[in-house]
Amino acid sequence: MATRLDPNLKNELEEFGVKDLEKCYQCGLCTGVCPLSSNDDPFPRKMVRYAQMGLKDKLIASPEPWLCYYCGECSDFCPREANPGETMMALRRYLTAQYDWTGISKRFYTSHVFEIFSVIGFALLIGLGFLLFAGSNPDMQQARLSTFVETHVIEYLDILMAVVLSAFLLSNVYRMIKFQMGDLLQKVPLSMYMSEVKELILHFLTQKRFSECSDKRMWYIHLLIMTSYTLVFLLVVGLLSGIGGRLPAFQTDEVRSFFHIYNLIGYYATFGLLFGTSYAMIGRIRKNRAIYQFSHATDWMFLILLWLTALTGILIHIFRVIGGDGMPAATYIVYTLHLMVAVPMLVLEVPFAKWSHLAYRPVTIVVTNVKKKYENSIKFSTPAASDESQSA
Ligand code: SF4
Ligand code: SF4
Repeated sequence: MATRLDPNLKNELEEFGVKDLEKCYQCGLCTGVCPLSSNDDPFPRKMVRYAQMGLKDKLIASPEPWLCYYCGECSDFCPREANPGETMMALRRYLTAQYDWTGISKRFYTSHVFEIFSVIGFALLIGLGFLLFAGSNPDMQQARLSTFVETHVIEYLDILMAVVLSAFLLSNVYRMIKFQMGDLLQKVPLSMYMSEVKELILHFLTQKRFSECSDKRMWYIHLLIMTSYTLVFLLVVGLLSGIGGRLPAFQTDEVRSFFHIYNLIGYYATFGLLFGTSYAMIGRIRKNRAIYQFSHATDWMFLILLWLTALTGILIHIFRVIGGDGMPAATYIVYTLHLMVAVPMLVLEVPFAKWSHLAYRPVTIVVTNVKKKYENSIKFSTPAASDESQSA
């Protein structure tokens, strides 16, 4: 296939936060110091080169931006201060927009107006929903959420949201696989993908490639945030109704003991989210590491929404149980505010922005492994074997 040069690529990438491309003189030091780069998948220099030369098709088919965990070591060593680590980050935004067929991701990343108004719009919609449909006679003696909004309504909407968002995300993941596999997509047998399922789960749950970076601190923070919101997701989506009544429901008027497993998970997740997001926000304000030097507006939006979601989540819990009967009015108001920040965050971030990284990274690792396995299987297949298959 002929390689096309796109003269507009550089301008396009700048909209997603790529900067200082022209400073790079391709010395390759960044690739040399990157702890995650390999001979098979060398980066970040190669990605910088593609961007400089306008090699759009090659860039879109590249797995490398997802194999980078943004430790920032390459930027620390770059003699030209070309910030290759930040280029990789911005390329991930660009690729996220390329995979997304709806165009929402591109608008979210490239327009501050769209970003702010979409978040505010969703928040107001949720607020309006509560205003119109929340219970007209909530219990004001004792904080009981079921008298404010019926649990099964929240449960249905929750499941609906999970299904719709998963459909968007999975369709984008499929497009990513198509770009990365190219012509091989039709040729690689399904069994080769299936043999990598364990790896997929392992990388999703542990982000273990991140642990190969010299400074382990960021891996711990990343893991803390990731496990926290995965646990919250399981609690809220999986256990809101107690999975059809077979388990104790997550959202209930019953006040559980401090040591109840759901409470313990909730405390861990709240601590993880508040600590992790506060750490990242303070870092971004102080710009004390290469990875915090440049903040895209969507980085801030993600952190603020996640921080507010965790804060309002723990406040609901406190207001609901304080003094035995809780503080009903405060509980209902904070519950509404909680959903006004949590829903826009999930709707926009899961399929179209930052949270989609959670899927793109492990899937890319699997796709890269599968591709190598397949290419090796072709390379090492014996002439006798190919003769046999031809005569058959
Ligand atoms: S980004 Fe910096 S370290 Fe990497 S090749 Fe360019 S000049 Fe060299
Ligand atoms: S940020 Fe870290 S992982 Fe990413 S390319 Fe640079 S050195 Fe490698």
